[in-house]
Amino acid sequence: MRTRIFFKLLGAFLLVIAVATLTLDFAVRRAWEASLYSQIETTLRQKVVLFAGQVEHERDRPLGEIAAEVGRGADARATIIDSAGHVLADTQANPQEMENHASRPEFVAAFRGQLGENTRVSHTVGIPFLYVALPIRGGAVRLAYPLSAIRDLTHQVRRRLALASGMALIIAMLISAAFAHVVARRLRRIVAFAERITHGDLSARIDENSDDEIGQVAGALDRTARRLENSFAALENSRRQLETLLNSMQDAVLAVSAEGRVEWANGVMQRVAGRVRLNAPVAETVRDPDFLRAVEEVLRVKQVRTARCASLVPGHSFDVIAAPLAGSGVVAVLHDVTEVERVEKTRRDFIANVSHELRTPLTSVQGYAETLLDSGIDGSTREFLEIIRKNAARMTRLTEDLLTLARVESGETEFSRTPISPAAILGETLQSFGEIAKAAGVALSSDDRSTRLVHADADAIQQVLANLVTNAIKYAGSGGRILLGARDAGPGVEFSVQDYGPGIPSEHLPRLFERFYRVDKARSRESGGTGLGLAIAKHIVLAHGGAIRVESALNHGSTFYFLLPEATVPAIAEVGSN
Ligand code: ADP
Repeated sequence: MRTRIFFKLLGAFLLVIAVATLTLDFAVRRAWEASLYSQIETTLRQKVVLFAGQVEHERDRPLGEIAAEVGRGADARATIIDSAGHVLADTQANPQEMENHASRPEFVAAFRGQLGENTRVSHTVGIPFLYVALPIRGGAVRLAYPLSAIRDLTHQVRRRLALASGMALIIAMLISAAFAHVVARRLRRIVAFAERITHGDLSARIDENSDDEIGQVAGALDRTARRLENSFAALENSRRQLETLLNSMQDAVLAVSAEGRVEWANGVMQRVAGRVRLNAPVAETVRDPDFLRAVEEVLRVKQVRTARCASLVPGHSFDVIAAPLAGSGVVAVLHDVTEVERVEKTRRDFIANVSHELRTPLTSVQGYAETLLDSGIDGSTREFLEIIRKNAARMTRLTEDLLTLARVESGETEFSRTPISPAAILGETLQSFGEIAKAAGVALSSDDRSTRLVHADADAIQQVLANLVTNAIKYAGSGGRILLGARDAGPGVEFSVQDYGPGIPSEHLPRLFERFYRVDKARSRESGGTGLGLAIAKHIVLAHGGAIRVESALNHGSTFYFLLPEATVPAIAEVGSN
């Protein structure tokens, strides 16, 4: 690079100088030759006039003498001829031996009374001459100047010109070499600067004060480097902030590249997974199949996925949320739920134990109250006994529901799932509730439009429908109507229980499936509700890998929907519980 630019510039300069010198030599020589010729011509004309005058005035002097004198004075060959063309005198040849000159072009013109002029090689002397002739009385005079003198002079001048050009060339060469050297050095500095930037050294600066094009290029590069450095500093700053933030989190965070390699892990992740090797395949770092499946799925479908991983650290469970990264890759956040799960389990166990312990005394209270009632007691004692029986029955239902909920929530209840047709499920519900509905004055019907089988535990789904239908009968009221339905939806079959009762105000809908959540507490209690029916239904549906929801409008009734997966496809999604 160094030599190339330098020699290229130098070569270009030398070429320009050489061309300029040659052009100058050619042009100047031509002009100079022309000017010399015209000068000689003018001088010769003047001298021939003087020559003619001298011959005219000094008639008594021998012509040879005058010619010799003029020839010497003019540094030219002088010739005098008579009107017949015979040479009377000549400074370079013997007139007697010279041929008749009447036909020489310059004499032809002179005999016509003009100034004759001609350039040619002399017959007499054999070299090129410039001839100028003028008429005189009885003849003509002529001066001839040898053009070889012009050639000699020209050669002399050209030699000097060549010498001067050579010197100019040397000086120009030195100047252009210095200039090329300076330019090449400036360019080399720009190249070195650009190379530093390429290698990531953004602190590199180039100090170019000149405002020529090279200076402008250097300035533009310098500004670019400055701006890049600022942007990188800002980026680095926000990266550090983000890293600090992620490191101060209590959750483990892991970034995985599109190729499934570990890109980054925060401090918690390093502790949880032992040693995290950057750029290693994620499967070597986090050996948990559920986690790896979630990450792999996010990489494939580019959507958020959740998972629960239990085999990463023995005795610990993590909730995993894996989300696609903006460009490519995945970021996974692992939240340790071991403690939450432990507390939850303690709570569930406690509720299950209490419910279990209450079961026997409640059955006993209920039994004795019924026995006493059967013994024919009357009056206010009977009334009290009735209240005792009713409340004992309610408490029994409550403990039963609590136990059921605790078992479903803990996963203790084992569902025996088989492929069943929605028609069979709806048929059984219609059969179980036909009489009850009739007694309540409610019309119960079903509309099955499904074409698929569902993968479900028939008894558990019957319980879900029973809870929903019980509520619907309760709220539809006498003269009301309930419609059971099933249709293919998404990856399974969606069941529905629709009533045309009072409906539920929209602000209650998001919390409706929480345990003990009731819209109207008094009415629920009055109707013997425990506030757990919907919570149980929700947990059973979730345990099936399905989903439950409600749509309701005040005074237009409510429709409860739940989705069960199709028998041939796996569960829809594992969703967290309330
Ligand atoms: P409960 O034993 O009180 O019925 P649930 O969990 O079954 O408890 O229902 C919770 C609450 O949801 C009920 O108290 C009631 O306010 C409301 N609800 C449930 N089903 C309906 C329905 N079909 N129409 C109106 N409100 C309903």
